[in-house]
Amino acid sequence: MLIIALNCGSSSLKSAVIDTERRSRLLDVRLEELDTSGLAAAVGQVLQQLAEGSRDRGSPDAIVHRIVHGGERFLRATRIDDKVLDEIDQLSHLAPLHNPPALAAVRQARSVYPQVPHVAVFDTAYHATLPDHAREYALPRDVRERFGIRRYGFHGISHAHVMHAVAAQLQVPAEKLRIVSCHLGNGASVTAIEHGRSVDTSMGMTPLEGLVMGTRAGDLDPGIVLDLVQSGSFGSKELDALLNRQSGMAGLTGTNDMREIERRAAAGDEECRRALALYAYRVRKYIGAYAAVMGGVDVIAFTGGVGENSPTIRRACLERLEFLGAKVLVVKADEELEMALEAAALLS
Ligand code: ADP
Repeated sequence: MLIIALNCGSSSLKSAVIDTERRSRLLDVRLEELDTSGLAAAVGQVLQQLAEGSRDRGSPDAIVHRIVHGGERFLRATRIDDKVLDEIDQLSHLAPLHNPPALAAVRQARSVYPQVPHVAVFDTAYHATLPDHAREYALPRDVRERFGIRRYGFHGISHAHVMHAVAAQLQVPAEKLRIVSCHLGNGASVTAIEHGRSVDTSMGMTPLEGLVMGTRAGDLDPGIVLDLVQSGSFGSKELDALLNRQSGMAGLTGTNDMREIERRAAAGDEECRRALALYAYRVRKYIGAYAAVMGGVDVIAFTGGVGENSPTIRRACLERLEFLGAKVLVVKADEELEMALEAAALLS
């Protein structure tokens, strides 16, 4: 099948035309630093570029869209109709930065290609297999039920791609492997993949939990948040800005660009050196924890902008983990291919 994948982030739009039989990209277009108000126009422009660039192959058989949050409702790839769009919209409060722009992209793409099937692939769906003990938070049941509090996990499309790529590279079925998948990009998460299923993952109810990220602190004592609220200086808006945009590597060093942080650390900047040590230590703790969860680990895989490109950071994350005896692999992130394959599987 010839499938257009639209991967709409909070400020970027990645897209590709994929031949699913050959598992290859015919072409891709990326737009960075997008303002969400201009997203619909950008989608229209990208679709036109893709159509022109792949004209000799005819029109696409389907369009696949990445949706960050599928809540409890969407546990697998789903063909989009008006009802599905409404249901995704109702989940927007769970991913306010991501679901609304993705929905705008779907609406625009449907108006350009009204006759072609559109499919939604969800970042949370891969983690639908989490066992209760990994999924639940130790809060009173009525509070959990009233607010839908549980671990959903994210980056599922990327972790699924890592699983398939590792299995293909080793020529061992995923069902026979225990993998710790480290997606280290601007956002970052680790997933324990046991016998082809996600059994734990570091992001939680929202993408704030877990690793130190570009602008998010990851794991925090919730008492810190209480303290800030009680101080009177932080309302929900200020907390949102602090936790989502001003913390993590940006909070520690003033930038979320890992290349710059590495350069500054190498030039002797103590603050950057300490920030990198904290970053790697947190990854290492999760790898160790997930090895314990699975009773061992066969493969530790790295993906994402940092995970793929920085041997120094990979080495720091793996320090003292030799005892695990795991193979270490680097996987080039390809969410668009994974999305297209899931859509093709649904439609055929
Ligand atoms: P996103 O999560 O937004 O898709 P990416 O996966 O592209 O982001 O990762 C972006 C991060 O990868 C940035 O912090 C960037 O500095 C970092 N990065 C890219 N190339 C390198 C490199 N060669 N060395 C270290 N970090 C890198």
